[in-house]
Amino acid sequence: MRQRNKPWADDFIKEHHELIIADPTNHKGKWQQLFGNTNPIHVEIGTGKGQFLCGMAKQYPDVNFIGIELAKSVIVTAAQKVLDTEQKNIVLLNENAENIAEVFNENEISTIYLNFSDPWPKNRHEKRRLTYHTFLDKYQHIVETDGQLIMKTDNQGLFEYSLVSFSQYGMKLTEVNLNLHQEADPTNIQTEYEAKFSAKGQPIYRCKASFKK
Ligand code: SAM
Repeated sequence: MRQRNKPWADDFIKEHHELIIADPTNHKGKWQQLFGNTNPIHVEIGTGKGQFLCGMAKQYPDVNFIGIELAKSVIVTAAQKVLDTEQKNIVLLNENAENIAEVFNENEISTIYLNFSDPWPKNRHEKRRLTYHTFLDKYQHIVETDGQLIMKTDNQGLFEYSLVSFSQYGMKLTEVNLNLHQEADPTNIQTEYEAKFSAKGQPIYRCKASFKK
């Protein structure tokens, strides 16, 4: 994700603390209270500019969506998009996914989305991939029984790596799609990267996996 320096980002984040939650660990185990309902919570890791999150929140008004995005200069764009859509079932966290188990309680999440995660193709960077087993440990902890992890990517290497990683972890693969856009699916909400890569004719991969608990 291209990141432009946005000197106003810190002030914007402070100003919109009801949307970009300032100290997420304070809400651990209490996220539904923040939304004021008992709806399931879905988390997107590496939300980018927020197109997927906004589209999903509109499509599924009875789900609470939380977007986690590391880059301040990117999360402010996502926040502007959320404010424009006026969806109340979204909050954003300016956090590193590494800290996810400090932010959510055991079984607090129903679904995790990994959309077009950075592939980190060099072997020496394997630990940074969001589907490396240390991340799966954290996801397993916070995802409820029967909860799922849904991944989309254009990157064949990351996709194959992740399928192996999920299998070795003992996860159950419930979908492996090697060309998501081959058949029209009006329920599929595209991310910014998805639209960009699919416009270039690249296949989009998707898999769904659940943790055995
Ligand atoms: N999901 C969006 C899409 O599909 O259009 C953005 C994809 S972009 C390639 C990956 C995004 O993940 C970037 O915005 C990056 O800042 C964010 N990211 C990378 N590592 C992260 C981490 N450890 N925690 C949270 N966000 C992360």
